[in-house]
Amino acid sequence: MLIRRAELHFGPVVDLRIADGRIAAIGARLHAQGDETVIDADGGALLPALRDHHIHLQALAAARASVACGPPQVQDEAALVAALRAAAAQGEGWLRGVGYHETVAGPLDRARLDRVVASRPLRIQQRSGRLWIFNSAALAALGARDDGDDPFERVDGRLTGRLYDADDWLRTRLPRARPALQALSHALAARGVVGLTDTTHTNGPDDLAHFAALQARGELLQALCVMGDARLDAEADRPGVARGAHKFHLHEHALPDFEALCAAIRRSHAHGRNVAFHCVTRTELVYVLGALAETGTRGGDRIEHAAVAPPELAAELARRRLWVVTQPNFVAERGDAYLAEVEPQDRAWLYRLRGLQAAGVALAGSTDAPFGDADPWRAMQAACERRTPRGALLGADETLTPEAAHALFTGALRTPTRPAPPLAVGAPADLCLLATPWAALRTRLGAARVRMTWRAGVPVWAG
Ligand SMILES: [Zn+2]
Repeated sequence: MLIRRAELHFGPVVDLRIADGRIAAIGARLHAQGDETVIDADGGALLPALRDHHIHLQALAAARASVACGPPQVQDEAALVAALRAAAAQGEGWLRGVGYHETVAGPLDRARLDRVVASRPLRIQQRSGRLWIFNSAALAALGARDDGDDPFERVDGRLTGRLYDADDWLRTRLPRARPALQALSHALAARGVVGLTDTTHTNGPDDLAHFAALQARGELLQALCVMGDARLDAEADRPGVARGAHKFHLHEHALPDFEALCAAIRRSHAHGRNVAFHCVTRTELVYVLGALAETGTRGGDRIEHAAVAPPELAAELARRRLWVVTQPNFVAERGDAYLAEVEPQDRAWLYRLRGLQAAGVALAGSTDAPFGDADPWRAMQAACERRTPRGALLGADETLTPEAAHALFTGALRTPTRPAPPLAVGAPADLCLLATPWAALRTRLGAARVRMTWRAGVPVWAG
């Protein structure tokens, strides 16, 4: 395949040939060979394709089939009620809402949900992913009673409808249906994404097998790396699906036993497996760094989010060569809530980018979809601007150049913090062709239009 007149990776306009999964030739003027397919890029930017290094595929696919209950789609109570009632009027059975945040309508409970939707079982997930709120029909469907023995919250002996940190329990009670991933995979390819790391901490051997089966059937357009729990320690890579790190989902109000955590880290390391830690508070990061000081680190161990990383902890991250996988989009999506909720002394250290790199910490980019928007181009723009939804600047010293923001999303799945090198002959043809030259896009990356995406030389998207 011959691509004519493409702007090569922030450089000159050239012709480029793809053959056998690689970039076979680059030149000012290449001639088509035989019946070779020719694409005229018309000066559009040809770039390394993207990878999202922290995403939750099954949750994202389920969310796409759910009612959005929080910003930016839903900003206030009236909009929430309208969205839920409209969804409830269609179909039957369970209704699922996602992305709720208290800025919309304050704390929710069963009584408030009953006033909106009483006819169908309804459950709404709070944006953090830790809290579900159920209406009375949903509680009844799950067999929950005021005097029952289950993890639901009770106040004065009465079910509130709230369920915290009990997804494992909930999974055993709800009908299990894995969402189809084809449409989602297609949508991500249309944004230039050719690789994904699923960071769901509950992934087990059945999930790994499921992803491998999808890959074998050609239902996934991206290469996958799948993190999960300790059960994956003994698992091997599958074709198109690499076994990822042991993911620890820490929460500062329920930190694991320190010795047990260290033992689990050592076990995974002994299996030649990396570890990854969900850290969104200063306390969580301190705890993890304490554990890793005991166990030692393995190259490729990573901190997910590192949402609060003051200078002394950034220095420790760099010293231990821990990778940070960050979500630049959270500032653009949640920045105003951070300004309202986060301790003032921690605000300067939120979702840092340039400051972490300057401290010697290797960074990779991701969206954390469905907890963030899945569009990596919007995340890149957010990395350049650091603006909250209301326009406040959060961490002016943390902005990246558009090129550096793009680089966060180009590393290989196994080495996410190492950006793709300049496109050259012999490199794998994981490519993304944009409709415009880079200069026309630099200041508004979220508006990028992807014309074509190649994974290992095979077109996976053509607009
Ligand atoms: Zn996540």
